[in-house]
Amino acid sequence: MSSETHNPIDIAREVLRRLAMSRTPPTPENFRDLYHQIAGTQPEEIFPERELRALSALLPRDTPEQQRIARRFEGAISEKNWKSFHTRMQQLFQECAETSLPWSGLIRELLTQFENRHANISGVRKRESLEHVLASSQADQKQLFQRLQGLVRGWSSEALSESYLLIDAPSPEVAFTREDAALEQAVTQSHDIRSLVAQILEEAISSLLVGSPELTETASTLALELRQTSKDFDSAAFAKRLREFAYKVEWVVQDQTGVRQALIKLLRLIIENINDLAIDDRWLQGQIAGVLQVTSDSLDRTTLEEVGRRLRDLILKQGLLKKSLVEAQDRLKQLLSGFVDHLSGFYNSTGEYKDRMEHCAAQVANAESIGELSIVIEEVLRETRNVQIQAENSRGNLLVLQRQVDVANGEILRLQEELESASDLVRHDPLTGALNRKGMDETLEREVARAQRQNQTLCLALLDIDNFKQINDNLGHHVGDNALIHLAHIVDELVRPQDSVARYGGEEFVVILPDTGLEDAASAIRRVQRELTRRFFLNDNSKVLITFSAGVSEIGTKETPQQALNRADEAMYRAKRAGKNRVEIAR
Ligand code: GH3
Ligand code: MG
Ligand code: MG
Repeated sequence: MSSETHNPIDIAREVLRRLAMSRTPPTPENFRDLYHQIAGTQPEEIFPERELRALSALLPRDTPEQQRIARRFEGAISEKNWKSFHTRMQQLFQECAETSLPWSGLIRELLTQFENRHANISGVRKRESLEHVLASSQADQKQLFQRLQGLVRGWSSEALSESYLLIDAPSPEVAFTREDAALEQAVTQSHDIRSLVAQILEEAISSLLVGSPELTETASTLALELRQTSKDFDSAAFAKRLREFAYKVEWVVQDQTGVRQALIKLLRLIIENINDLAIDDRWLQGQIAGVLQVTSDSLDRTTLEEVGRRLRDLILKQGLLKKSLVEAQDRLKQLLSGFVDHLSGFYNSTGEYKDRMEHCAAQVANAESIGELSIVIEEVLRETRNVQIQAENSRGNLLVLQRQVDVANGEILRLQEELESASDLVRHDPLTGALNRKGMDETLEREVARAQRQNQTLCLALLDIDNFKQINDNLGHHVGDNALIHLAHIVDELVRPQDSVARYGGEEFVVILPDTGLEDAASAIRRVQRELTRRFFLNDNSKVLITFSAGVSEIGTKETPQQALNRADEAMYRAKRAGKNRVEIAR
């Protein structure tokens, strides 16, 4: 048969003939191969549908995405065309490559943000959000991916804004180093955030820092710099300072918490003991004045703890003293009532003796015989002896009682003195409420140390009321006392909260003015003088003008407070000599 034969029947016949000749089994494959050989054509590829369907059955179908791929695979098989199957599969692989999402990066970031601490998102809330996203996007991995991305973005932007607000920075090494770059970048980029942070620094943070003027100032400086930033703003350096500031603020806030707790403990201590303090109300006043003083000072933990310790000691001592005093008074009372009983016994018996004697005298007068008289004399002698014995007993008893009373009195005096000196430990003058000498010394010690530490000036003013003797003489000592209270009250009201007022002597007061120069101190005292001419002291509705002369000195770096006080005293005398009601500065 010629190779030009194109008739398929002829070709088929030729194929069968050759198969028979060569004794090749006439299987479809052998027939097909020989057919194409004879026809000079290429055998067509056989589409392996069965094998492909078997493969398709093995494809996973757990997720919608997997189900979609399986469906595409089956669709391609159904066409039973190897070429188009091939094309369809190519398309599918490409799509899969395109839609495969960068899960590993997202999971890493998700873990980081999940572990990071956020002030406004608790761990529990994070877990809830995550669970919600997982549950709601289970069916669609693309959607799941996007939602998780959104969640991570939300958390990380929260962390960024927190690092601005400086809230909750408990492990700054971790939080800040990770966010430094973002912080710096955003500081330069975001004007809005900058002014927001500045506002927070000025308003919110500063209000936390009452009593820490240095930090308040730092907050204002930082805020000012934030508002004024220009192109050459060094954001890295600024971030560093902001971090340091955050540390300090955290300390102050912790300290304030400590102060509050100490204060509450202190108050509880006082209140618990008030019931036991009724014996001497001067004592009670002293203690309450002490606590009030402490609460009106700018609070710091050490002062509070110190006062608490002192009060505990005093209360203990007071308790012991009070008990002894009550016992001593009871003993004295018993002795006195015994004494009175004895006295009345003595007088009773001497009264009886007198009656007896009168009776005896009558018997003597009426006696008619020596015998009768001797009976009377015997009676007289007997009664006299009785009275004598009783008198001696009484005398002895009285002497013993006298001694006991002296001892008891001595003990009471000693206890009262001790009680008073214990009250002295409290730093306030009970009449005016100003600091007493001890309180003044302590305050001076503290202020001198502070002034040295902070390199500040510290001034003193010594005030002596003019012609005070006259007030006493003309209006009485009690009115004089009230005038002292009036003056102390006005001085205390007019000076700054950080200044202290102490009663230095009878009608002399000392004002301690920290962080104040001489001229400013003198002006402050002159302001008090002016105010005194406006706010008269009223005695029975009649106005009494009180004036004072004052000397002002600055405590030198090499000087003791007493030396500075002496100089203020000299200046005060100059003011007296110059006509009173004026302030002189000690240079
Ligand atoms: P000068 O202007 O020179 O100071 O005159 P002065 O009258 O104030 O003189 P001086 O300072 O010598 O007198 C102070 C008087 O203050 C003497 C004293 O009786 C009185 N005084 C001291 N302590 C008290 C007090 O606690 N209550 C009262 N009512 N008077 C006091
Ligand atoms: Mg005086
Ligand atoms: Mg005086």
